[in-house]
This record gives sequence, structure tokens and C-alpha cells, in this order.
Amino acid sequence: MKPAPFDYIRPATVAQAVDALDQHAGMARVLAGGQSLVPMLGMRLMRPSALIDINGLEDELGRIECSGSETTVGALVRYATLERSPVISERLPLLAHVVRYIGDRQVRNRGTLGGAVAQSDPTGEMGLVCLALGASVLARGSGGERTIPIEQFFEGSYANVLEPEELLVALRFPLAPSRCRFFERGRKHNDFALISVVAVGSEDADGRWHDVRIALGGINDRPVLAPAAAARLEGARWDAAAIEEAAQLALEVADPPDDVRASADYRRHLVPVHVRRVLTDLAAGEDR
Ligand SMILES: Cc1cc2nc3c(=O)[nH]c(=O)nc-3n(C[C@H](O)[C@H](O)[C@H](O)COP(=O)(O)OP(=O)(O)OC[C@H]3O[C@@H](n4cnc5c(N)ncnc54)[C@H](O)[C@@H]3O)c2cc1C
Repeated sequence: MKPAPFDYIRPATVAQAVDALDQHAGMARVLAGGQSLVPMLGMRLMRPSALIDINGLEDELGRIECSGSETTVGALVRYATLERSPVISERLPLLAHVVRYIGDRQVRNRGTLGGAVAQSDPTGEMGLVCLALGASVLARGSGGERTIPIEQFFEGSYANVLEPEELLVALRFPLAPSRCRFFERGRKHNDFALISVVAVGSEDADGRWHDVRIALGGINDRPVLAPAAAARLEGARWDAAAIEEAAQLALEVADPPDDVRASADYRRHLVPVHVRRVLTDLAAGEDR
């Protein structure tokens, strides 16, 4: 099948892109890497009145900027750039590591961080990492720019709080905790993850952990934090009993789908298994 007809607009500035979104009153779509949007157009799962192609806006949306402890990554920064950027490797090593799990080289050459977060796939790696790292989404509309904490961004499966007339312009990350570990289980490489787990934190000289965050993908209609599990480990030394309790507490946020890839029961079974594994590895000094 071919896409339904649409207007094609290639703005020269972010202001023009926002104007174009406004003029189409929520019926237009932003085209970034096109890795999700173009297949959806082809299947006619979307019939936008116009595509607003932001690929000419590298100057405004393609930058990685550091200010004090914060790192701001423009919406149009491609996965391949995140993989190779020395700044990202130094300041956000979890992002640099996890991006390699996305698709293949071709997908990573085109796909963008902003596109991935806007797509809001409940199994997407980038949303999960942004959640684990406590990022903020910067969105611009005709009324100006707003900052949305990532914890308030995802609304459900492929749904978020962006207004249809808003452009996601960047993700802003605070200082990352010093330690992080990621794991994902899929039926095969490149398939949607059945479960993904990220744990981050910092261990002090006394062996106690701080700023603990545990994020889970694939076990709910959106990426979720496991606050009770993190609270169990905050300020504590992690022995096997503490880790086991936290792994069981993570089940509190599991409301997994039942689909062709796996049953809800099986996905629920995977939660404590993989949270335990990730925390045990992190406690043993195995990062990323
Ligand atoms: C073969 C293949 C394998 C893949 N594997 C994975 C995988 O393992 N993990 C994974 O997470 N993803 C995977 N993807 C999806 C890929 O990560 C997409 O690149 C990503 O979901 C969307 O990024 P994009 O830049 O291509 O956005 P697009 O496809 O251009 O856009 C996606 C959606 O976001 C909107 N959008 C894009 N940018 C903005 C913006 N700045 N502001 C507002 N709205 C915006 C678009 O309008 C559209 O609705 C795969 C895709 C393919 C084709």
C-alpha cells in the first residue's frame, strides 16, 4: 500500500516548523528519521494532512550542549551520533551503551532521539534510558517552550502529553549517577523487547547506594519506574536479601500485555528474575 496524499513542508527554522504545525491544527506530523513514521504512513495507520520535515534543522535541533552538570541533546541528534559522541560517552555513558541495542546500523544512522521519545514505544530503549536518568523533555509550541519531566511525559502505549501542535526540541539530562546497568530480553535481536531493565545509582565509600532509580520497559503500556524497589535500596548496602526484596517489589508496577510475543504471566515472571540479575551485576561492579 502507498501512503495517503499529504503536503510536504521543509521549514528553514524551528519557528517555521512550529508555525506550520499550528497552521495544520494538529493534523500534520513531524518527519524526523522516518524509521517509524514512514512504515506507518505506508500501512495507512496515519493519514496526516502534511509532513513537516525537520531534517534541515540540524543547526537548531542537532546539537549536544553541556551547561554545568546538565547535558542537552537536540531532538534531531541521531542514534549513530549518540553512539560515537565523546561527550555522550563521558557524561551519559548509559545512553551511549543502550543505543547500540536499537535496530541495525541503517536504523541508527537515521533514527533520532527526539523521534524515539515522541514515538513513545513502550518497549523503546531511549524512553527507558531517559526515564532512568530523570531527563526532561523540552517542547515548543506557538505559545512558547515548556519543560516536561519525563516521569509525566508518557501517557500510554505510543501516547504522550505532547500537543499535536508541539515540536519536541530537546532532551535535558541532569548529572548521571556514577553506576548503571542495562539488560533486555527479546525473542531475537532486533525484535521488540519482552522486558528491559535499567538500574542506576551511586555507591559511597561506605558501600551504601544513593540516587537509585530502576526503570522497566515492556511490562506496562509505557516505560515505568519501580519506586518501591528503588526506595528499598536507597541508602542501603546491597546484600542478596535486599536485592531479592527489591526484585519482588518491582512487580508492583508490572501490568504487562498479553500478545503474540509472550503471555502476561510469562512477562510478569521475568520481572523479578531480571531485576534481581541487573541489581546483582551492578552490586558486583559490572556496569552497563
Ligand atoms: C528495522 C527497524 C528496527 C527498529 N528497532 C528498534 C529497536 O530495537 N528499538 C527502538 O526503540 N526502536 C526501534 N525502531 C524504531 C526506531 O527507533 C525509530 O527511529 C524511532 O522510533 C523513531 O525515530 P525517528 O527519528 O525515525 O522518528 P520518525 O519515524 O520520523 O517519527 C516517529 C514519530 O515521532 C514524531 N516525531 C518525530 N520527531 C518529532 C519531534 N521532534 N517532535 C514531535 N514529534 C516528533 C513523528 O511525527 C512520528 O509520529 C526500529 C525501526 C526499524 C525500521
